[in-house]
This record gives sequence, C-alpha cells and structure tokens, in this order.
Amino acid sequence: MTRSARPLRARIHLDAIRHNYRRAKSLAPRSRALAVVKANAYGHGAIAVARALAGEADGFAVACVEEALELRESGIREPMLLLEGVFSPDEIALVDRAGLAMVVHCREQLDWLLAARPSRRLDCWIKLDTGMHRVGFSPSEFAEVDALLAACPHVGERVAMTHFARADETAHPYTSTQIAAFEQALSGVRIGRSLANSAAVLAWPQAHGDWTRPGIMLYGVSPFAGAMAEANDLRPAMTLESALIAVRDLEAGESIGYGGRFVCERPTRVGVAAIGYADGYPRHARDGTPIAVGGRLTRIIGRVSMDMITLDLTGFHEARPGDPVELWGRIVRAAAVAESSDTIAYQLFTGIGRRVPLMYE
Ligand code: PLP
Repeated sequence: MTRSARPLRARIHLDAIRHNYRRAKSLAPRSRALAVVKANAYGHGAIAVARALAGEADGFAVACVEEALELRESGIREPMLLLEGVFSPDEIALVDRAGLAMVVHCREQLDWLLAARPSRRLDCWIKLDTGMHRVGFSPSEFAEVDALLAACPHVGERVAMTHFARADETAHPYTSTQIAAFEQALSGVRIGRSLANSAAVLAWPQAHGDWTRPGIMLYGVSPFAGAMAEANDLRPAMTLESALIAVRDLEAGESIGYGGRFVCERPTRVGVAAIGYADGYPRHARDGTPIAVGGRLTRIIGRVSMDMITLDLTGFHEARPGDPVELWGRIVRAAAVAESSDTIAYQLFTGIGRRVPLMYE
C-alpha cells in the first residue's frame, strides 16, 4: 500500500465487518451466509475482507471469475459463488480449476455448462427472475432447467436463487409476490434455496432460506432509507478521512468555489479539505451535506472540486490546517452523505478513487 503524504485515507475496520457478518448470521440462524465481496468488497478491499472473515464465513459471493481468482490466489479456500456466472464457455475451465460455484441465469450459460467436460462436479445456482426483470429463468422454466441439471453427471449441488427488487421497502407487497413466485416454482423440489440480500436478512425472515447473501450490511450500512445503522446493530466499516489544508474568512456577499454556488450571508469562516470527486467524494453533494471537523459535525458549502471540498467552519474558532476531517464513518453516516448527494452508500464505497489508500485496523 502506498503511503500518501496527502492527508487522505480510508480506514477499514475489520472488526466491524466481522461483527456485521455475525449479525447477519444471528438474524438468520438456520441459514448459511455468503458474504458478498464483489466490487472489491464494496470498495473495502476484497482480499483483506475475505481474510478477515476466512474460517468464519460460510462462503463468499463475487461477480465474476477475475474477482474469484484474486481471492483464491490470496489463499481464500471457502466456497465461492459467481453471482453472474460465466461470460463465455472458456471460463468454465477456470471455474473447475478454482473450485467455484456458478450461477446459471440463461440458456447460453446452461448449454455451456451441460456441454463442458470438467474434472469434477460443478455446483450450480439456478437463478429465477421473480420480478427484478434483469436476468434469470422465468419461474415456469424452472422445472425443465432443474431436470436438465439434475440429469447431468458433472453437475453437483444445485441451489435455486432469486434476487429482490424492493426488499428495502418493508411495507410494499412486491417482495411477498416475489417470494410466492419463487416458492411456487420450487414446490415439491428439495434443493437449496437462496433469496435474501441484506434488506431481506433484516426484514424478511420468511425469505432467509438455506443461504443468505448479505452485502451492504457487512459494511455497516442499513439498506433502509432513513434508518440509522445502529437500529440494526450494524457498525460502520469504513472511515474516510482527510484534513483541513486551508482556513479562510470570507465577507458577507462573497461566494465559494466553481459557479459561486454558495454565497455567504454573513462573515463566514471556510475550511478547505483535501478530497474531491476524483477521490470518490460525490460531486453532487449539496450545500448542507454533513461532514465532521475535529469530531464535530458541520456541513459542506460550495461545489465539490476535483481535489478539494469547502465546508462551513462557523463557530470553529480554533480550527486550523491539519485538523482531521471525517467525510463518512462513525460520526458522519455514509448513508446521510449519499442521501444528500442523490445516490446510495453502495456507490460511494465502490467509487473510492485510486488515490485513497486503504488502511486496515
Ligand atoms: N445477491 C445478489 C445477487 C446481488 O447482486 C447482491 C448485490 O447487489 C447481493 C446479493 C447483496 O445485496 P446487498 O448489498 O443489498 O445486501
């Protein structure tokens, strides 16, 4: 890891990730849980996160073969699922060699798997589209697909899975409809079931099934809008921090930054912190987006630049360059920054820039 002199880093709290994984397990005690570590563990560093959970996690889920191989090469031996399956028939040889399980969501993938000549039996997760309407077999196709796989001598364990579109909307009936479609397709079939993302682990116990697939909750963010993570006993796993690099006093009527978006109504002390949109801080953060200086909450004022942001230091009489700034973490909720920037914490985490070193603790 390069050590940057620029005072910007993401501290990753591996103990929080372990706590959050245990939380997912305790909420669904009869299910095994695949820790979702795709997209570099939502920006937290897949190798470090998988190592922190190795020996404890029932398995890991990644998006593609490259992500799985990176983990295998770093010594992760747990079961590992490719959530999008393979993108070409050639990848099945890699699945075979690396001991991976693969999702099958379409006819092409099914044909590739049936025609493959692997050295061992390959575990296969049949993805059903019960309402997300992106990928997956329709529930009416399930019996035929499952029969083909059951008859194939090189297919090992089969699991049926689906993914929810609106599980974070706990009062909405859509998730119940998806669960019903899934159960109806599988009626009488005795194979493993997997439906639950974080929102369903937390709010839809009837969908826990045999395998859950928690992602965002491992990183300490509640999937529910407005809900505080503490309400679910989740611990933030990333503290993104920088420092003040300038403090200046502006007169009433002076504006700050590009486009002069923020105009001071009164004499205003302004702080400048070393982070910008090139580092993954959201350019669409509105005036008022929370931020903390020296452990005290304040707000962003002025448009986010590529390498710098500006913030309100009114009342921070002692503030000076070098003071620590928390962009999100334990004081400032990533979900609050996301909401104030018209995005979601998933995008903030996965958008952390290459200039931001990840420090593990
Ligand atoms: N399962 C699948 C198939 C996914 O694509 C994802 C993430 O997008 C997850 C589980 C984890 O979802 P979440 O991060 O909301 O828990």
